[in-house]
Amino acid sequence: MLELLPRQLVVGGMHQLSQMIQRTTALKRERAVAEKTAQLALTQASRDSLTGIANRRAFDECLAAALVKADQQQDWLSVMIVDLDYFKAINDTHGHDLGDQVLKRVARLLTGAITRRGDQVARIGGEEFGVLLPGADVHASLKVAWRLVMTLRQYNAGCPAGDSWHPVTLSVGVATRCPDQSISGRDLMRQADRGLYLAKERGRDQAVHAVPSAQTDPPLADTR
Ligand code: GH3
Ligand code: MG
Ligand code: MG
Repeated sequence: MLELLPRQLVVGGMHQLSQMIQRTTALKRERAVAEKTAQLALTQASRDSLTGIANRRAFDECLAAALVKADQQQDWLSVMIVDLDYFKAINDTHGHDLGDQVLKRVARLLTGAITRRGDQVARIGGEEFGVLLPGADVHASLKVAWRLVMTLRQYNAGCPAGDSWHPVTLSVGVATRCPDQSISGRDLMRQADRGLYLAKERGRDQAVHAVPSAQTDPPLADTR
């Protein structure tokens, strides 16, 4: 077939083909780099740069998705806001760098204590963490909240103040969406914030559920 075509046409055609292959390979390479960069940007956009855990943006997205799922499956969903007690005093007395170390350690302790698949811990503010507990009812979520409070108490007892740690306690506000309840993420977080406010008001270093009923009684005794 090639023998029937003029020589110049064959050489020109081969040259064009080779250029096309080169262009396609270069385009593929560029696309792979662009995809990798986009993936990295996405990871960085959803990570908190200090602690390395999920950030507020990732938390909000997870909460929205969890609410849709809870709606579809008619399931419970609980959220918690964890706030460090008197954290400003640690910064003011021992410096911002130690404050940062404490924040990093608390993030590690919280993620270590939240182990159930599907649960999510994020840093949602300066010294505030959000926790998402799909499927957890009032009793179960309060139990987890108190576990976090106890984790810090025990850590403080075993790890006194030093170069990279200063004892700190947690206050936790908890809110729960019932299976048949329709509530926005914002309102659920607002309820958890009310629980947090009560925890602070009642003396800090404790967990309070926002449900304004007998259910608020902690399932675990405060063992201080
Ligand atoms: P409360 O028990 O009422 O929560 O008291 P608090 O001192 O923890 O609360 P307040 O809101 O007065 O102070 C929060 C402090 O958290 C102030 C701010 O300097 C500190 N903070 C916020 N983000 C960071 C951070 O990234 N690193 C450090 N080291 N400190 C931070
Ligand atoms: Mg705060
Ligand atoms: Mg605080």
